[in-house]
Formats: sequence, C-alpha cells, structure tokens
Amino acid sequence: MLKLVGVMSNRSSFAIRRSLRYSAKSTITINNQTADCSFIFRRRQRQAFFSSSSSSSTSTSSSSLKDFFNPTDTHVQLRSMLRHFVQNEVEPQALEYNRSEKFNLPLLKQLGDLGLLGLTVEEEYGGYGLDATATALVHEELSYSDPAFCLSYLAHSLLLVNNISINGSSEQKQRFLPTAISGEKIGGMGMSEPNCGTDVLGMTTKAVLDESTKLWHLTGQKMWITNGTLDGGKTPGDLFLVYARTGPGRSDITSFIVEKDMVGFSVGQKINDKLGMRASPTSELVFDDVPIPSENIIGDVNGATLCMMRNLEIERLGLAAMALGIARRCINVMKDYANERKAFGKPLTEFGQIQSAIATSYAEYMAGRCYVYAFANNLNLHSHGNGLDADGTKLYCAQMAKTIADRSIQVLGGYGYVGEYGVERLWRDSKLLEIGGGTNESHHKNMVRDLRRMPDLE
Ligand SMILES: Cc1cc2nc3c(=O)[nH]c(=O)nc-3n(C[C@H](O)[C@H](O)[C@H](O)COP(=O)(O)OP(=O)(O)OC[C@H]3O[C@@H](n4cnc5c(N)ncnc54)[C@H](O)[C@@H]3O)c2cc1C
Repeated sequence: MLKLVGVMSNRSSFAIRRSLRYSAKSTITINNQTADCSFIFRRRQRQAFFSSSSSSSTSTSSSSLKDFFNPTDTHVQLRSMLRHFVQNEVEPQALEYNRSEKFNLPLLKQLGDLGLLGLTVEEEYGGYGLDATATALVHEELSYSDPAFCLSYLAHSLLLVNNISINGSSEQKQRFLPTAISGEKIGGMGMSEPNCGTDVLGMTTKAVLDESTKLWHLTGQKMWITNGTLDGGKTPGDLFLVYARTGPGRSDITSFIVEKDMVGFSVGQKINDKLGMRASPTSELVFDDVPIPSENIIGDVNGATLCMMRNLEIERLGLAAMALGIARRCINVMKDYANERKAFGKPLTEFGQIQSAIATSYAEYMAGRCYVYAFANNLNLHSHGNGLDADGTKLYCAQMAKTIADRSIQVLGGYGYVGEYGVERLWRDSKLLEIGGGTNESHHKNMVRDLRRMPDLE
C-alpha cells in the first residue's frame, strides 16, 4: 500500500500534491522504500539517485540528452517518483493481470492519490498544471512495466480529464474534474463506432434536442472504449466524453459528458481475448435515447471537431511515449540476456547478428525518444494544428517499439517466446499502438495532407 510520509503525512490529497510541488523535504514511501520527492534536487544528488535507483536508468546517455528528456527539476523529480512507483507497484502485478485479463482499478486509483490523474489540469481544479513533456514522461515510465495499465491511464487522464480541462467551462471543470482527478470516478472517451473508426466524421451516434424539455437525447453505439466497463461488463465506467452527430453537416459533432447512472446508458459487450493490452478493459457502450442536459455539453454545439483533433494530438503523443517505454524495456532485457547467455563458448553479445539487434534497437529507440521529447518540449497543450508531429511521433515510435520487441524475442530465443521475460507481452501490446488513436495508414494520410500544404522543409 502506498503512503506519503514526512511533512505530508496528515494532509488531504490535494494538499499533498501541493506539498509535492513545493516542499524541499517531501518523501514518498512505497512498500517501506522511501524516495525523495523534493522538486528541488541538486544535480549531484539527482545523478546519484538515477544511477542507484533503478535498472531502467539511462546512465549511458550524455547529460545534455538527460536534460532534454527531463528539462526541469520538476520533470526530474516526477520521473524518479514514477520509477519507484512502477518498480514497486506496477511491475509486480503486470504479468498476472495480463494473463487473467483483469483490470487493476485500485492501482489506477493510487495514481489519483499521487495527483497523476490530473497531471495537465490547472491547480484550482485539483491538478498539477504540468505540460506535454510531463505527459510523455509518465506514459513512458508506466509502459516500461505495463502498457495495458498505461492505456487505461491514458484514456482517463488524457481522453477524458485533459479534454474537459482544455475544452470545458469553469463550471464544468468544478463539477467533473475533482472526482476524476482523485480517482473517485474513472472513465474514458467514446469516438469510435462499430462501423467507423478512421473515418471518424462518418459517425452515426446522434443527439437530438427536445425543445420542450431542453434535454438532448443520445442514441447509438461506441466501440472499443477503454475503461468502458470497470466491473467486468455489468455496468459502464463512471464518466465518458462522447462525441455525437448534432447536425446535417459532416463536421456537426458535439461532445457530451455521459454519466454512469443516466437512463438508457449501458454496456453492449465487454471485449475479451484481445491480442494485447489485455489488462485494460475494452467495451462497447450503448446509448438508448439517453437524456442529457445542456450543461453536459463540452464546448459548443456542432463545435467538437476541433476539440477532438486537438485531443487526438495529445493522445498520439501519449501513445508514442508508451512505445518508448516498451522499447527501452525490450532493449534492457535483450542486452542483459545476451550478456549472460552463452553459445559456442561465448556470450551472445560476441556475435555480430546479436550486436546488430541490440545496437540498431538502441539507435532507433534514441531517434524516437529525441523526436518525442523535441515535440513534447515545444507543445502548448492549449494550441492546435500540431498534427504532423503528433502523427509522426506515433507513426515512427509504434513501429519502432514493435520491431524492437520482435528483435528482443529473437535474441532470447525460446525464452523470449514465453511470458517470463515479458517481451512477448510487450510485443503484443506494441501492436495496439499501430491501431489505437489512429492507424498507421491514417497517419500516412494525415501527414501527407499536412506536408502538401507546407512550404519546403528547411
Ligand atoms: C484496445 C483498443 C482500445 C481502444 N480504445 C478506444 C477508446 O478508448 N475510444 C475510442 O473512441 N476508440 C478506441 N479504440 C478504437 C481505435 O481508435 C480504432 O480501432 C482505430 O481508430 C481504427 O478504427 P477501426 O478499428 O474502425 O478500423 P477502420 O477504420 O475500419 O480501418 C480498417 C483498416 O482500413 C484502413 N483504412 C481506413 N481508412 C483508410 C484510408 N483512407 N486510407 C488507407 N487505409 C485506410 C485502416 O488503416 C485499417 O488498416 C480502441 C481500439 C482498440 C483496439
């Protein structure tokens, strides 16, 4: 069980989050291990912490690249806190939850205790007010151990919480965000449908205003919804941002907040037996004439297309960062294994083809990591029109992670093909990154459209 100690022991979770940000003496204890949570780290302390805290430390990177991936003390501190959390809480449950296709809801709620469910939300609504770099960092670290758990985190913290935070009114933020950030309510976002995914503006779920009651009536189905159900398919999750057609034009789309207990809202089916991301619950959601008050409309009526595109940009950054966690883990596993394992009297690392697998993977991973952080370090979460590199980072990193996971299995031979070393799970999980949040082909389409509109690259 995770608890915060020291100067923060008796405070509310919101106060704890504020302490995490400002205190120079804060600590966090996870399973009796204590990590310094000060955001005011001295450089030498920071380096010592990194070199001793985790096998996942990128100790061979030059210090300038470390700064690039952790541009401020806040990012350094956040990463070290995440590494402890992942090592102690996420890693031990990952294989079991994957095998049993169970969702670890209590663990996601623990991220609420740490304030991470509202990473990008302004402080006045209970969030941290952090940036796109922090978003990339958290997704990278969680996926080092458990991409499926991270996918559920992404659906809640980015697709729901960040979307309301960027596009909602202050009344809506007061109403919906505190319980979503604390983890009391967990949900996601409904965009895809049984008959349309890539062609998202072809959606048929619709909402019609009843002028007499002033209620909107939502009818249709949403497919593949992460966190769609949290209890194995009996009832829907707590809160969803759902896109629906509200006018005759192709872009006449409006976003609605749909709450668990609304009349006519149910789970169509829990989707089981997925290739990967098995510990993240996916389901079909059904809306049967669900009455929704206007106060639950996020943004303008017929004005959700821009919000949707902007939210897709941060979603794609999160998914690209997840690919980095997968790739880094697979490289660590294959290099350690190849060092230990002997064939023909020498370690596998002595063979050229194995060297090629490890070295090429490292170079590709670093290329992807530089692209992701170059994009994230310059991304203003309130801006839009960043699609080229949102698509580009995800396109590159998803394929990179899958290729590296594949090489990792190959380097481990038969041991790579079974669950123990984790790389087969990461390979299966990585495939989702080529489909969810936009398929590779949709990225090709979007990127060429954007490149054709741009002047020549400089
Ligand atoms: C585990 C999981 C979790 C998900 N979570 C969510 C969620 O929380 N919320 C949500 O809204 N959605 C979610 N999705 C849905 C996901 O975003 C869609 O699956 C994805 O956008 C692709 O849509 P589709 O499956 O309908 O495929 P389609 O769009 O039908 O595509 C099928 C194939 O045709 C190709 N294709 C389509 N159009 C073109 C074109 N113009 N040019 C070239 N090729 C084309 C595609 O690239 C793909 O290869 C999730 C999916 C999965 C698997």
